Amino acid sequence: MALLVQKFGGTSVGTVDKIEKIADKLFESQKAGNGVVAVVSAMSGETNRLIELARQISHEPNAREYDVLVSTGEQVTIALLSMALHARGVDARSYTGAQVKILTDDSHTKARIMEIDDTAMQSDLEHGRVIVVAGFQGVDKNGNITTLGRGGSDTTAVALAAALKADECQIFTDVDGVYTTDPRVEPNARRLDRITFEEMLEMASLGSKVLQIRAVEFAGKYNVPLRVLSSFEEGPGTLISYEQRTEGKIMEQPVISGIAFNRDEAKLTILGVPDTPGVAYQILGPISDANIEVDMIIQNVGADSTTDFTFTVHRNDYDKALKILQEIATAVNAREVVGDSAIVKVSIVGVGMRSHAGIASKMFKALSDEAINIRMISTSEIKISVVIDEKYLELGVRTLHTAFGLAETASD
Ligand code: ADP
Ligand code: ASP
Ligand code: MG
Repeated sequence: MALLVQKFGGTSVGTVDKIEKIADKLFESQKAGNGVVAVVSAMSGETNRLIELARQISHEPNAREYDVLVSTGEQVTIALLSMALHARGVDARSYTGAQVKILTDDSHTKARIMEIDDTAMQSDLEHGRVIVVAGFQGVDKNGNITTLGRGGSDTTAVALAAALKADECQIFTDVDGVYTTDPRVEPNARRLDRITFEEMLEMASLGSKVLQIRAVEFAGKYNVPLRVLSSFEEGPGTLISYEQRTEGKIMEQPVISGIAFNRDEAKLTILGVPDTPGVAYQILGPISDANIEVDMIIQNVGADSTTDFTFTVHRNDYDKALKILQEIATAVNAREVVGDSAIVKVSIVGVGMRSHAGIASKMFKALSDEAINIRMISTSEIKISVVIDEKYLELGVRTLHTAFGLAETASD
């Protein structure tokens, strides 16, 4: 008997009709002889609706109460799905994060899972029950409800799979696997049969929202076999594993596995800063004190004993960062502060980059052939990212997808 953790995202449980379909699927899964643990998200749009309600009351709501509010969406779906399973004669039990208990730290809105008590779940499984767990939520040591960050149900599923030593953690969603890039932007994107944890981690951290980054981290750390599949169609999906190749097949791997993009960035530049030791700290210290995360950073070569300093932040933090930077500019006697929130980051990712030269120049040429101006560049061992104007996002992604032959070589 295989033990499966099967997670269904918001669009997969978006209507009562869809919840009924998921109940059929879980019923079949159990009938086939599997132990089944389901993890569900809130119905699509629900978490956004709850966040908007909070925003109408306060721009900075109390974090504890915010988590109490936004965790309610998942409580609705676990109850409805369990009822639908009962209607099929399946013995099912719903659990909130606190009921399980999924113990987290106390960082509200972005809590980390510390420990999972699997006693009740093990006993349910022994009794042949289907377990239905609310994704995205946990409880801290003082009994406060916490949430795991947007997209956090993926992480709940992987953490449960690790705790229960499940045979596979299956993430069912509205696409039938991980694609070479978001199929909503590039219709020629191809489903990958496999992708390595390392590449998936980069893709997730560079903006591919198909899996929450923490879920990938967790699966890699505890070696949880992780698969992304369609909720509505049959198919093998995409397996995320340490080994990229399908057993028995000896084929050259593509140099680039995928393209990720992030629409949530904004860039800020402080011009004419005195080029003296400590200047980077003087600029970024107050930004980090304000709890603003900085992504890319560039400091130009100093000329005339002054330099320019550019960095990117999340678009939600743009106004706050701009205000702080203007204060810093006055304090350090800089010339000017400029900013741009209509930018995006596009990245190519692939472990094959390690052993291939010329990938960056190929990327830059492809973009230049389309007259797309690169505003910033950053590289690491298996990725190259560029910041470009927002209006070129679709063109940039499609251009790179074609330039690296992803439509033809994606399947292994
Ligand atoms: P769920 O509600 O099931 O958690 P998400 O919206 O979080 O679903 O994730 C699925 C979406 O991720 C897809 O609809 C797709 O638009 C997007 N996506 C982004 N990058 C990729 C990619 N490389 N492969 C597949 N889907 C991607
Ligand atoms: N409902 C939560 C969200 O919308 C968690 C999830 O769907 O994974 O972010
Ligand atoms: Mg998701």
